[in-house]
Amino acid sequence: MKVSVDKETCIGCGVCVSLCPDVFEIGDDGKSHVKVKETNNKCVIEARDSCPTGSIKVE
Ligand code: SF4
Repeated sequence: MKVSVDKETCIGCGVCVSLCPDVFEIGDDGKSHVKVKETNNKCVIEARDSCPTGSIKVE
């Protein structure tokens, strides 16, 4: 799966980092950053579905 975060809409709440710390981190800009571009870690689905702003895309 390819994971990306829309930095325009991310509010830096940290939910994705809590659910999936191997994939997401909060960067210096206060927004979520994807640490790996491709992953089979299923927590990205949970993070996508839990993101309050719908900023996480999984393909
Ligand atoms: S859960 Fe969504 S809004 Fe919150 S930090 Fe992650 S990508 Fe940004």
